[in-house]
Amino acid sequence: MDFLSRKARSIAPYTAGEQLRDRTYVKLNTNENPYPPSPRVKQALLDMDADGLRRYPRPDAGLLRAAIAEKEGVSPENVFCGNGSDEVLALSFPAFFDADGAGACFADLTYSFYEVFAAFFGIPAKVVPLREDFTFDLAAMRAQDCQGYYIANPNAPTGIGIGRAEMEQFVRSVPEKIVILDEAYMDFFGESFVPLVKEYPNVLVVRTFSKSYALAGIRCGYAVGNASLIAGLFRMKDCFNSYPVDAVAEAVCAAAVGDRDYYAAATEKVIAERGRLTVALREMGFTVPESRANFLFAGRGRLGGKAIYEKLRSEGVLVRFWDRPLLRDFVRITVGSHEENDILLEKLNKILS
Ligand SMILES: *Cc1c(COP(=O)(O)O)cnc(C)c1O
Repeated sequence: MDFLSRKARSIAPYTAGEQLRDRTYVKLNTNENPYPPSPRVKQALLDMDADGLRRYPRPDAGLLRAAIAEKEGVSPENVFCGNGSDEVLALSFPAFFDADGAGACFADLTYSFYEVFAAFFGIPAKVVPLREDFTFDLAAMRAQDCQGYYIANPNAPTGIGIGRAEMEQFVRSVPEKIVILDEAYMDFFGESFVPLVKEYPNVLVVRTFSKSYALAGIRCGYAVGNASLIAGLFRMKDCFNSYPVDAVAEAVCAAAVGDRDYYAAATEKVIAERGRLTVALREMGFTVPESRANFLFAGRGRLGGKAIYEKLRSEGVLVRFWDRPLLRDFVRITVGSHEENDILLEKLNKILS
């Protein structure tokens, strides 16, 4: 007897990066931050009232939304929080797209969760190829018949970014469609659309605590946008999980959002290392598009991504590889600490010689 639904039997779920624990790896495969979170995070954990955990948390994450609103220069009614930005993205599909509508448009090489969410919610996917140099073809996207767009900016796994002015032009050209900007890596680029959301009621910006805030273990992300879009996300949340942001996550993330100086410094270090790694990899003969994120998309012709990935893994360095057309010549390498990056370069030199 098979009790699974047709959907449960047939859907292809998202595959997250490996979290291997069989040995100590230099872990450069899931774009985590090489630096710890702000010391204020530790303090917030120490200050937690364990007895208070018998209570449910705030259903609207009000304390955290106020902290985010202050940081982003918007009102709390413009902010929605979820259990990771993945959950915020998931809820955005039923909030803004109809199963019998024209569908959600996104690039062929982008965050692969969009495709999974579209399938899960039964929303048509309109997939537009990137250009040959891996940049977005915004004109081709604009020409699609769809209800709206998902654009990861900077994009994953390529690291390529779209500047604010170009994005504004795109957004302005599709005023009847919703544009969901996934800014998971935006702090490493500095061209966020958040300062413009007030002018564009069709834009929802989604951000995460997992990457630049070094809090992947906490599971929290948020959206910033027009109050009516945010209200739509709340309606979907309350059909699914009343309390997606737990009390610990709320306190920790609120503390993190307040420590701008600490995170600005950590982000600067990652950006500097990204530059150093890009130069070093290109000198070794790798093709590396200019990255605006905390990872590099690197290929070395006929060697192939799989060989690089497997050889590095046997040397104790984990990177990400996808056995998919257009991606299989490349690996995605998270920018680590200076020491981790030195190990990566040393192992790559060994593999190539
Ligand atoms: C990491 C990532 C996310 C999801 O992050 P959460 O950990 O769920 O907050 C969303 N979008 C992109 C493009 C990512 O790389």
